[in-house]
Amino acid sequence: MVNGARLWQRLQTLAQHGARADGGVDRPALSLIEAEAKRTLIAWAAEAGMTARTDALGNLFLRREGREDLPPLLIGSHIDSQPTGGKYDGAYGVLAALEAVPEVPRRPVEVVAWTNEEGSRFAPGMMGSAAFAGARDIAEILACRDADGVTVEQALAETFAALPDLPIGTMGGPVHAYLEPHIEQGVVLEQAGLSLGIVTGLQGKRTFAVTIQGEAAHAGTAPRATRRDALLAAARAATALDALTGDPADIARFTIGRFVVSPNAPSVVPDRVQFSIDLRHPDGDALRRLGDALAAAIATAAAPCTALTEELSTAWPSLFDAGLRADLARLAGDAAMPLLSMAGHDARFLAALCPTAMIFIPCAAGVTHHPAESITPEHALAGAQLTAAAIELWSR
Ligand SMILES: [Zn+2]
Repeated sequence: MVNGARLWQRLQTLAQHGARADGGVDRPALSLIEAEAKRTLIAWAAEAGMTARTDALGNLFLRREGREDLPPLLIGSHIDSQPTGGKYDGAYGVLAALEAVPEVPRRPVEVVAWTNEEGSRFAPGMMGSAAFAGARDIAEILACRDADGVTVEQALAETFAALPDLPIGTMGGPVHAYLEPHIEQGVVLEQAGLSLGIVTGLQGKRTFAVTIQGEAAHAGTAPRATRRDALLAAARAATALDALTGDPADIARFTIGRFVVSPNAPSVVPDRVQFSIDLRHPDGDALRRLGDALAAAIATAAAPCTALTEELSTAWPSLFDAGLRADLARLAGDAAMPLLSMAGHDARFLAALCPTAMIFIPCAAGVTHHPAESITPEHALAGAQLTAAAIELWSR
């Protein structure tokens, strides 16, 4: 049965791997720190009579055999963190799953820790789950480099060397269903005074790179009427996009997080500005309409400069499995509410592979990717108990 005290103790113990002086966690994907954390997880699983294996990208699976040889029920999340991460993002899902595994299920149950969910060491994130689901090519992932030039392949070799007894199994395979417990990373549950959320789905996200091309000129001699100032054009574009994507209910999320001016010299009219766009919406039609309208709005606002808008990535909204969600809602009763995930998760890729669902527990004030990230033992226990009830039902 679920032991809340042990779960809490393990959350604190795992957080020692990569502990920051300010109470947070810095546990980069495929680092030796993460390998040590995996060693701890493997030891806890072994105590419970479970076996461990990894795969070509370092995804970690802790397996409870079933009475019958069936595709496993997969439960988990990730244990890598942002450099300024907290103790619970990802780690909570893995440890809640470990606590929730039954003694003798009919169907095998596997606890999983996906590789590089955060994307802060190797971009983009959700690398392990994407490869598992066949959404990304393994060779392409192995060649990705971190900021120091280290490839995923090199980092994996270090991880495997640090865990020499860990068998490397085949990538992917049939999965009965996937469940990911996670902290909410928002304030919806806290404001509702509820301990559990049944996640309806993930909002979609499109990212773009924009280049505004103008003409460099002397800040003292060039008349303003004849300038093609790329910075002013980009500023007009940003204002136009803010208006275009805004809605009264504040549903669409629009962010320009990167803005690069060149030549970035005090007395030169800028000839070029490059900026990023991160656009998110829970509704696929709205995301398509807004995203498709960006390029024309930028071109109009940027004139007489020219504008190039390139789409870098597209993830449409995904709805989780209606049957699993209904089961979770029934098991949780009054303690739970349905809610949308505003952040991305490994569950996005698993949803394309098998019936998938997520459970959220509250985190204080929605603070996350921050050392102050905080949850309560009561909420941690509630999420693990719902996870255990779901495993019981789905592994029967
Ligand atoms: Zn996470």
